[in-house]
Amino acid sequence: MILPVVKYGHPMLRQKGAHIEKVTSAIKKLIEDMLETMYAAAGVGLAAQQVGRALQLTVLDVCGVKDRPSTLEWNDGPVEVTAFMPLTLINPEIKPFGDPVTGPEGCLSFPEIYEEITRPSGVEVSALNERMERVKFKAGGLLARAIQHETDHLNGILFIDRMPVVAKKALKEQLDGLQKATKEALAG
Ligand code: ZN
Repeated sequence: MILPVVKYGHPMLRQKGAHIEKVTSAIKKLIEDMLETMYAAAGVGLAAQQVGRALQLTVLDVCGVKDRPSTLEWNDGPVEVTAFMPLTLINPEIKPFGDPVTGPEGCLSFPEIYEEITRPSGVEVSALNERMERVKFKAGGLLARAIQHETDHLNGILFIDRMPVVAKKALKEQLDGLQKATKEALAG
């Protein structure tokens, strides 16, 4: 089932996600729905907050992006990224590493807004998968960027918080308009 994606201005996007203790049938269904929603919107990642749930849960898949490569190291060796997609991360803990790189970023909660964001080039991840098994890996490239973007969501942090002040200022009108539309829709 495709779920509605909440937009900027919705208070859910500022909520820190609760830890998931058990993958119940409801969580299983939520993961399926989040994947379907992400693919339908042609996104590379989706956080639970974006579908109105404050949980430490995100799904990712970078396979659809051909012009921005990703790298993955699983058990200390490089692996084929596509073989590990989609990724479901529960209660993820990340350690970004490497030189900062600047690249374009968008967000399904900010339609039509794109900006250059600087983030560390790599990320070390420890998380649980959809079977509550511990997974540990290192990612680079687009996948590293997407994981940092999504884990930010799980902590109520948005990509506009990572934008340089000048860039955010330039987007002010668009952001204010989006926020206002979201609040008006919420107020009914
Ligand atoms: Zn986002």
